[in-house]
Amino acid sequence: DLSVKLGAHSRDELGQLGMSIQSLANELQRLRKERNEFLSSISHELQTPLMYLKGYADVARRPSNTPQEHDKYLAIVEEEAERISQLVKDLFQLAQLDQHTFFIQKQKVELATYLHTICAHFHLALKEKEMDLDISCSQGLYILLDPERFQQVIINLLDNAMKYSKEGTKIDLIVKKSAESLTITLKDQGIGIPEQDLPYVFDKLYRVEKSRSRKSGGYGLGLSIVKEIVEAHGGEITIISERGKGTTVEIVLREDG
Ligand code: ADP
Repeated sequence: DLSVKLGAHSRDELGQLGMSIQSLANELQRLRKERNEFLSSISHELQTPLMYLKGYADVARRPSNTPQEHDKYLAIVEEEAERISQLVKDLFQLAQLDQHTFFIQKQKVELATYLHTICAHFHLALKEKEMDLDISCSQGLYILLDPERFQQVIINLLDNAMKYSKEGTKIDLIVKKSAESLTITLKDQGIGIPEQDLPYVFDKLYRVEKSRSRKSGGYGLGLSIVKEIVEAHGGEITIISERGKGTTVEIVLREDG
């Protein structure tokens, strides 16, 4: 009787093991597919700027060019090379984040000064687009974060807020502190994100409208990088958006994080 019981028991376990192996195999298959899709998207992304680069390098070489035309074509070559360089930099950063080969080195940061310093880099670009950036953060608020890494979060989010907003609109950067958490909110009055796209905006290489992003220079990697860095800090990020009204990004950091 005992052996019958044991038999049943081990058959059960064998069955469970079989199911675990099957789900591992499925997961492996999914990851493989994801990697392949990612690689083919990257190759595709690189094709467009490379095509422009090659085309304009050829055109720039024409003997009939005026010096102005020559300069103009070379400027486009430079611009496209810059786009490729940006993509490679973003990919490298993502690869590092994915591999967990990077370490978050937290230090105590006075938030108001920190945010004002980062935002100062946007001063000229904001002026050019006649946009205002309002920062609301009380002085003397200290938080533990990796200043170098977290700077990328603010830069990418501000960059988006500007890219996807019309001239003359406003951006608000608001910091609120509660007993156990700190919330950083970035709110724009831009074109917004359609509801059906919202669940995917953190995916790598996901863009709402490919053409609208190409014009403004994005590859759909900015928000994936932001999410990885925020989560590496133990934080959470959410986006609320309405087409035509604007986008609000909220980052919650725990005090002990
Ligand atoms: P990109 O480099 O293309 O801007 P992101 O990963 O930063 O890529 O963003 C993904 C997509 O989400 C963008 O292509 C854009 O369509 C949309 N998006 C991101 N931020 C905003 C924003 N503040 N307003 C409107 N759309 C946005």
